[in-house]
Amino acid sequence: MSALDQLLSVQEHDTTLNQLDHRRTHLPERAALVEIAEQEADIDARRGELDERRTELARSQKRLEDEIALVEAKRVEEDARLYSGSITAPRELQALQDELATIARRTSELEDELLEILTDLEPIEEAIAALDDETRALAERRAQVESSLAAAEAEVDAQATSVRAERDDAAATLSAEVLADYETRRRQLGGIAVARLNGSSCGGCHLTLSAVEIDRIRKLPADEPATCEECGRMLVH
Ligand SMILES: [Zn+2]
Repeated sequence: MSALDQLLSVQEHDTTLNQLDHRRTHLPERAALVEIAEQEADIDARRGELDERRTELARSQKRLEDEIALVEAKRVEEDARLYSGSITAPRELQALQDELATIARRTSELEDELLEILTDLEPIEEAIAALDDETRALAERRAQVESSLAAAEAEVDAQATSVRAERDDAAATLSAEVLADYETRRRQLGGIAVARLNGSSCGGCHLTLSAVEIDRIRKLPADEPATCEECGRMLVH
């Protein structure tokens, strides 16, 4: 293989390495993970709202239960007074019975309120349980995608390792000057420093070179790269 062919081989391998790098960066699993993260954030937000609502309702539930307990204690106390025989005056007895009736109404109101709270809590508990199921399913999916990503990365990395070894073998045959020139042009020319001359057109920029230029290139020694006047790439001729 001539030095120019080796240079072209280095270029082809570098291009392949760039493509592998691009593939590694754009593996579909990465997009899937971004989507999973969005779903996780959405679930977290919904879960946060539901937790807040549940906490509010639980607070109301506690308040009502405490009040019901107080009213019940009062009822037991008044009931004991009623049956203790210590109150005999009809007016006082009537007042006590009225008080007990008021307590019974209050208890009934509080129990209705409590029932309402418990009824409101039920769908919230169900929604939270459903979100927990979603969270578990999503965690499983994440684990699968992460493992699939690791496998895909390992595959690309193995290919890159073998391509890099071939690239280095080809580069080892070239002089430091040629390689330095090649690297400089690669940086300036979007990664492609060397192209093949196809007939009279540059394989890099695809422009047609003048007949005079073609004639000049044909007269160059086989190992001396020409330069495309249009794009500045080294031309393998
Ligand atoms: Zn060109």
